[in-house]
Amino acid sequence: MRSPVPDLLDAVLEECRDAGDDGELAGSIPELADADPERFALALCTVDGTRYAVGDAEHRFTIQSISKPFVYALALADRGYDEVLDHVGVEPSGDAFNEISLEDNGRPRNPMINIGAITTHALAGPRGATAEQSTARVLEGLSTFAGRELEVDEAVEASERETADRNLALAYLVRARGKLQDEPHDAVDGYIRQCSALVDVRDLAVMAMTLGAGGRNPVTGEQVVPAWVCRQVLSVMATCGMYDAAGDWMTTVGIPAKSGVSGGVLGALPGQVGIGAFSPRLDRFGNSVRGSRAFERLSTEMGLHLMHAP
Ligand code: GLN
Repeated sequence: MRSPVPDLLDAVLEECRDAGDDGELAGSIPELADADPERFALALCTVDGTRYAVGDAEHRFTIQSISKPFVYALALADRGYDEVLDHVGVEPSGDAFNEISLEDNGRPRNPMINIGAITTHALAGPRGATAEQSTARVLEGLSTFAGRELEVDEAVEASERETADRNLALAYLVRARGKLQDEPHDAVDGYIRQCSALVDVRDLAVMAMTLGAGGRNPVTGEQVVPAWVCRQVLSVMATCGMYDAAGDWMTTVGIPAKSGVSGGVLGALPGQVGIGAFSPRLDRFGNSVRGSRAFERLSTEMGLHLMHAP
């Protein structure tokens, strides 16, 4: 019997496209302002590795902040729970993605906002890794999550490097509090390269399902990180993944998720599905408008809300 999923994805895509063209293209990275605002794609990956995709599914875009949960996962796997928790907290900040959000002890509040993500980048790779080695580990690790070798968009990377003052300021603050293990410039350079990795919605769905399947990539079969890491990462995504819209997202969509400034959104429902969405116009929190709408529809149609009693 033919799966009902492709028709559902098509219907959700059309419905969410017709619902309007609200939102603005990202303003913080000049190169992203050239994106085609009409692009829209959805993909879903099941726990057995079956993938479905509709819309502009072949279009590649930079992963941006969606990389954050995966780099957090790599840091946890490489350095262990205690060392990572010593450097980055797990409390929702209720702040915007680029806020100065530090606890009294100098730890960034969580790894999903920039200040925490820059700190986490420097924790990837074995203890004593150089900044270069951490960045190499991050790109290799992101590729393993996706199940294919990801390339970097050099133009977006260069564009973000030119406008990195705020991220540099965040990195210097953490360094001053003794929580950043690399030189601020090196950590920010590596973090920007991480954000510039190119993905499509299918990659997002597979990456999400890998987190939702205890760290085993459902397509390649590779165990990317241990299962305890995924529990930790998904918990932090559930509370902090959508920035200052995290509470609203949890009540309306109910799926641990992460968004990025280029318009991607990824969500993982443990043991069930991984979902990827892409559409470049963003709401005031920096989350894709059509992507968020699509998640809400899919959650309702497929009964995916975590708090929904079957
Ligand atoms: N690279 C972007 C930045 O640091 C990521 C932000 C985002 O996707 N929200 O500003």
